[in-house]
Amino acid sequence: MPIAALPVAYHLPAADKTLLVHHVLNDFYGPLPTAPRRSPMRELISTVLSHRTTHRDEELAYDRMLETFGDWAAVEQAPTAELAHAIRTTRWPDTQAPRIQEILRRIRAEFGAYSLDALADWPTEKALTWLTDMPGIGLKTASLVLLFNFQKPVLPVDTHVHRVAQRVGLIGPKTSVEKAHQVLLAQLPADAVALLNFHKHNYWLGQHICFFAKPDCPRCPLKGVCNHYLEHYGPADEAALAEVPRSWEGEKLH
Ligand code: SF4
Repeated sequence: MPIAALPVAYHLPAADKTLLVHHVLNDFYGPLPTAPRRSPMRELISTVLSHRTTHRDEELAYDRMLETFGDWAAVEQAPTAELAHAIRTTRWPDTQAPRIQEILRRIRAEFGAYSLDALADWPTEKALTWLTDMPGIGLKTASLVLLFNFQKPVLPVDTHVHRVAQRVGLIGPKTSVEKAHQVLLAQLPADAVALLNFHKHNYWLGQHICFFAKPDCPRCPLKGVCNHYLEHYGPADEAALAEVPRSWEGEKLH
């Protein structure tokens, strides 16, 4: 549906609003496939390395780590200070290095190899509990791996998804990031394709339009449903909706 033709819908119940946001952003950014972007091991370790670190520095750390040590067995056995040096472009290499070695130790102990592939056959809750029991792995990281790599019906909520959901009014102003995982999940279809699209679309909106400091509301496709917009600009009329591009026109997204 073109954004200009959307009903202005500020006062919908949160669950209906969440579905509306899902459909609007699906039109705006286009639907995504569920093909994994990287292997489960790479997804897990890269996400650990990415904490408060830019994508470029995370990739640099990951590549240096494997170039330096060669394989996961060598990373696990390496002197921890040397591993910390290899991943020095991350924010907290001295904390991340022992965590990565402990994560590798637990994966080897559980599966007999440095592979997470067996998680495909685990029930979702068991896999979530096992992953989040490891050091440095929270609900967001575990959900990313289970959704992206194993198409489990979970929803990763990062700082961008959380901020957008709060401003639009899909969750309450005091709902924590951790709690938002359950609240938003309950409002969406239990379907991996829908959940992956909801996560990525809201993540992109938070990264490129709904900025932390100064959201670019005039060109936002959610202005017709967003509580923050209503409070700051008043209801979006037809002219305001018409000024939103029909689809994302900015840089390439990944
Ligand atoms: S209208 Fe503004 S505050 Fe609301 S989601 Fe869009 S950019 Fe964020």
